[in-house]
Amino acid sequence: MIEAYTNKLLMIDLSIESFEIISLPDILKQAYLGGKGFGAKLLVDKVFPGTDPLGPDNLLMFMTGPLTGTMAPAMRGCVVTKSPLTGIFLDSYFGGSFSPEIKYAGYDGIIIKGVAKKPCYIWIDDHRVEIRDAKDIWGTDALESNRLIKQEIGDESIKIAGIGQAGENQVRYALICCEYNRQAGRGGAGAVMGSKNLKAIAIRGTNSVKVNDPEGFARACEKAVKELADSPDVEAMRQAGTASAVDFANEAGLLPHKNYQNGTFAKSSNLAEKGQSKHLWLGSSACMGCPIRCSKIGAVRTGKYKGIVTDIVEYESAGLMGSNLDISDVRAVAHLVKLCDCYGMDSMSTGSVIGFAMEACEKGLIPPPEGIDLAFGNVPAAEYLIHAIAARREGLGKLLSHGVRLAAEKIGGNASDIAIHTKGLESPAWGPRGVSGMGLAYMTTDRGGCHQRGFPVGYELAGEWDNKPLDPLSPKGKAAMVASLQNHSAGTDTLVKCDFGSFGISTETYAQLFSAATGRQITSATLLETGERIWNLVRMYNLSEGMDATKDTLPRRFVEEPLPDGPAKGHRISKDDMDYMKLEYYKIRGWNEDGVPLEKTLERLGVHHD
Ligand code: SF4
Repeated sequence: MIEAYTNKLLMIDLSIESFEIISLPDILKQAYLGGKGFGAKLLVDKVFPGTDPLGPDNLLMFMTGPLTGTMAPAMRGCVVTKSPLTGIFLDSYFGGSFSPEIKYAGYDGIIIKGVAKKPCYIWIDDHRVEIRDAKDIWGTDALESNRLIKQEIGDESIKIAGIGQAGENQVRYALICCEYNRQAGRGGAGAVMGSKNLKAIAIRGTNSVKVNDPEGFARACEKAVKELADSPDVEAMRQAGTASAVDFANEAGLLPHKNYQNGTFAKSSNLAEKGQSKHLWLGSSACMGCPIRCSKIGAVRTGKYKGIVTDIVEYESAGLMGSNLDISDVRAVAHLVKLCDCYGMDSMSTGSVIGFAMEACEKGLIPPPEGIDLAFGNVPAAEYLIHAIAARREGLGKLLSHGVRLAAEKIGGNASDIAIHTKGLESPAWGPRGVSGMGLAYMTTDRGGCHQRGFPVGYELAGEWDNKPLDPLSPKGKAAMVASLQNHSAGTDTLVKCDFGSFGISTETYAQLFSAATGRQITSATLLETGERIWNLVRMYNLSEGMDATKDTLPRRFVEEPLPDGPAKGHRISKDDMDYMKLEYYKIRGWNEDGVPLEKTLERLGVHHD
């Protein structure tokens, strides 16, 4: 039967320089549908509690979904591993055309284990797999290595996922760069790749992905494209990408300023769509086959950083590398983000870490590096730290390369009070003090504080969820909303879709796309139940790594310091509010008061975990 899966996984062991092609187990397809679930189940089964994320036994998995490489709009790829930043489950998504190429080469996923004896890269040409010497490429940045590998193989059209110097040096928030401008950004998958002495994976595939019911699939694709075209949120993304969120967040008092001390930034418009279109943008671009085209390409056209070719400064980078550092010149922010891209380092975590260091210096918790004025607003100081972190040789750069949680622990004193993270993952650029449901989402997210596993902000500010009124500041009514959004996120993420696609594409349409592609008829309820299954499976994994209920919490700043500005001025998410939301959430999830899934919940969902 044609079913859109290739039914094969490529497993490569770098320690013994061997590979094997194994069948995709039916249980994975039945229970988990696609990439997120496949990765989660394999992590649970094969990466045991206590495994060193940067050791040979961690797995680095590049996963696709059944819709990857088809005409279904707005699909991406996903990396699953154990995070060196958080010590728990990590899934990180990337656009571009690397993941379709995995399918075209004949695999549903590539799983890497072991450690190569010397720097290498993997060359996959359909079913031919080579582990090649990377000594001439090691030490180059994430963009240059891409160019060099294409030159060595002699084919400009091959697809590459690789790391820069930050991944080689195992900075705990190093990313994996897919093509030139798409990244699996969060949680340090690039450091895992570096720990395996693996510079890149280059791939060429010559097969196509066949679907079970071509006519039904075409109809479902047409419906999805129409839903995208009809969505005002998608139109906003098409016009201005995520930069459209800067002014919105500022007006709502959610934009981080000076390490989240404030929720507004007087010069936010410079970082928003008008500032970016004036100084940077030249045109739009897209991941393979995506009609949304959220990306802007451009170049810095004036000033000190003139000439830098750049992608859009995404909302998260504008927030964390711009307003959070009190930097308002979007050209300077583009420069700092481009440095991170070249080194292969998550610009969100990097911005947060630099903001932490600037405040720590201001408060006398750390001395400034010699000759550097480590003050908010100082662009050269931020640039200095980016170089120092990526090189990770000594001093402050090395300290900050561990992320804010570990850096604060090593500094001691009150440093942890200003470290803005949940479970070790630096918080996104949406301060939650004016939207307590966002706070609950951070507290309970499967990979640490993240806005992409349920984003209730729009519902909270609109004051309505499920046809009932909702007070953004109150802890009431938040648990059911957050659990529901998380199930939706996990259930559709396992198809390896882009978050922006679900701004328009309905859950029913995702189910129709899946059904027509695979021949297995499912409904939107199947997707939501699969999401719930994955959520519980990952919860069990994270618990086995010591992430118990005490870690379902927020940074002290959000709990004890009232927001000093914006519409929610004076508000914080108190400990009582956190406890209220948490207990309600556990109950709705079918977990006990310690946040452990009850046996009957695991039984209902068919989650088996030792
Ligand atoms: S919406 Fe943007 S990031 Fe998502 S698939 Fe389309 S072009 Fe890529």
